[in-house]
Amino acid sequence: IIDIGTPSHSVITTCAYCGVGCSFKAEMRGDELVRMTPYKHGKANRGHSCVKGRFAYGYASHKDRILNPMIRENINDPWQEVSWPEAMEFAANRMKGIQEKYGRQSVGVITSSRCTNEEAYLVQKLTRAVFMNNNTDTCARVCHSPTGYGLGQTFGTSAGTQDFDSVEHTDVVIVIGANPTDGHPVFASRLKKRLRKGAKLIVIDPRRIDLVDSPHVKAAHHLPLRPGTNVAVVTALAHVIVTEGLMDEAFIRERCDWDEFQDYAEFVSQPNHSPEATELLTGVKADELRAAARLYATGGNGAIYYGLGVTEHSQGSTTVIGIANLAMLTGNIGRPGVGVNPLRGQNNVQGSCDMGSFPHELPGYRHVKNDAVRSVFEDLWGVKIDNEPGLRIPNMLDAAVEGTFKGLYCQGEDILQSDPDTKHVAAGLAAMECVIVHDLFLNETANYAHVFFPGSSFLEKDGTFTNAERRINRVRKVMAPRQGYADWEVTQLFAQAMGANWTYTHPSQIMDEIALLTPSFAGVSYEKLEEMGSVQWPCNEASPEGTPLMHIDGFVRGKGKFIRTEYVATDERTGPRFPLLLTTGRILSQYNVGAQTRRTANVIWHDEDLLEIHPHDAEVRGVKEGDWVRLASRSGDTSLRATLTDRVSPGVVYTTFHHPDTQANVITTDFSDWATNCPEYKVTAVQVSPSNGP
Ligand code: SF4
Repeated sequence: IIDIGTPSHSVITTCAYCGVGCSFKAEMRGDELVRMTPYKHGKANRGHSCVKGRFAYGYASHKDRILNPMIRENINDPWQEVSWPEAMEFAANRMKGIQEKYGRQSVGVITSSRCTNEEAYLVQKLTRAVFMNNNTDTCARVCHSPTGYGLGQTFGTSAGTQDFDSVEHTDVVIVIGANPTDGHPVFASRLKKRLRKGAKLIVIDPRRIDLVDSPHVKAAHHLPLRPGTNVAVVTALAHVIVTEGLMDEAFIRERCDWDEFQDYAEFVSQPNHSPEATELLTGVKADELRAAARLYATGGNGAIYYGLGVTEHSQGSTTVIGIANLAMLTGNIGRPGVGVNPLRGQNNVQGSCDMGSFPHELPGYRHVKNDAVRSVFEDLWGVKIDNEPGLRIPNMLDAAVEGTFKGLYCQGEDILQSDPDTKHVAAGLAAMECVIVHDLFLNETANYAHVFFPGSSFLEKDGTFTNAERRINRVRKVMAPRQGYADWEVTQLFAQAMGANWTYTHPSQIMDEIALLTPSFAGVSYEKLEEMGSVQWPCNEASPEGTPLMHIDGFVRGKGKFIRTEYVATDERTGPRFPLLLTTGRILSQYNVGAQTRRTANVIWHDEDLLEIHPHDAEVRGVKEGDWVRLASRSGDTSLRATLTDRVSPGVVYTTFHHPDTQANVITTDFSDWATNCPEYKVTAVQVSPSNGP
């Protein structure tokens, strides 16, 4: 027990890690933050938190923070500390010079889902109104971009349909490609509570995750599919529902396009989608597929929760569509206890997508080709907006290697560590003439940077994050930015150095502009957030108090759209050289590539990533518990220690990716989702062999 004395005051703010978006009380003694405690009135967490959030403040004061701007002529030169004005002038001159020489499409930005809504909005505005192109992308590209596509196509908007409270009304839960216990712990506690009260659980995951057989919760069905076969499993569930007449025909007739449903029903009814045929493809027992489908269709309110095990595949978008199809087939949309719920990995994945960070969409998911929408922005911004979608992150890197993309402003994102095919990312960065990294720490990407803007932590700025249930939560400044400016101010300074006349003095003004331009945010303001604590979009004249549940009377797009989900095997194949399939995930105490959690008290729970391997696969390779192994794929190889477990099936290995030494993305392929280019992180053919360590 640590005696912190009596705090002088406290500030309510929001956790900057996962998409649950827990509210915290930052307890202060003068200017010193002494403790973070979960806020009992926080609507997403109701007084609970996990071990990540409680210790998050550690990284804000870590000695590795860079507190002065830095520049260098070439990436092999030493860094030179400079003043903010000097850094801005250097960065702006470089970017302007590049555009003069190579054209306005030669530069772009990457923003992060760790940034606030206001920061994300400003970064895309910088791209569209200052760089004058649409080359803006976000790290959501590599996690939930298929959610954007899949739910946009079927329902008409890219967002989870429910609030977290909804889980208290569910009777049957499907968890597919997610591990809430580790990835979304506070939501997992609510889910487990509901399961303990009798709700049934179906887990679809190659690995026997904690929810399958935790001490107080047992899944009714675990479908341990072969990695990469989500679409086949989801389509087989639909086959059973349709061929056994378990669908909700009244709902479909009233709420969905009937012709499209008939086409879909004919498709899923084909024998190649039967459980027996699917068992051959996926390894999931036909009986289990049938039983799971019957339970979901007939067990009462059915809710689906999914994560990156759905999206990070070559058919990520198809699986999201398949999940939406299942919900529409069974009428599990538009009331408490049902729905389709993406569990967002980062705190503001939802918000960064809402804010127009993708290269084809303006804020509020409106296509840049839409003349009427563009003109609204053009009138307010006083510029002409490009009507062609810009480059996605992989396209930027390809163009850089080809010599046509030369300048990048990268805010809050370490693409060298987090994006697939590390060698290609490095080649792209090395080919650029100006890379600006804006971050708390000198990250791996900064090895290729010419300018470093020191970033501010979530404790040092005002703003908002939007969590996985579309809840807009306030982020409040607890202490002054250690390096002088909040991130939104840094972006504004850079825009001004590029010639823009931006004059925001507080993020609330940025939110007012967002509300003016974005119908789903029209009723959002800092005043409302103070009054209500938080609000879920859409929040506008039709829903002034926000919208906990979506699609109650009709889908955003009008009629729900059924779309065929043809299974196409990934191009990543196992064979004699690479006979095992590697898939990846997280552990409770760590967050993504670990840049933050490794700089907090959480390090005591994790100092390396381990390779989980089935005892049979280990034995035939002469690998014992704790041995170092070489993990090799067609892309590269790395070393890590093995742990033997039957949580993974024979033929499948698994690791986390929190430690930089693991270099998980040296292994991963450059295959990606057909619709969105979301990388196929979850399926890599590998070989495992004994080694002497790194
Ligand atoms: Fe809540 Fe997620 Fe933060 Fe944990 S990491 S405290 S679950 S928001």
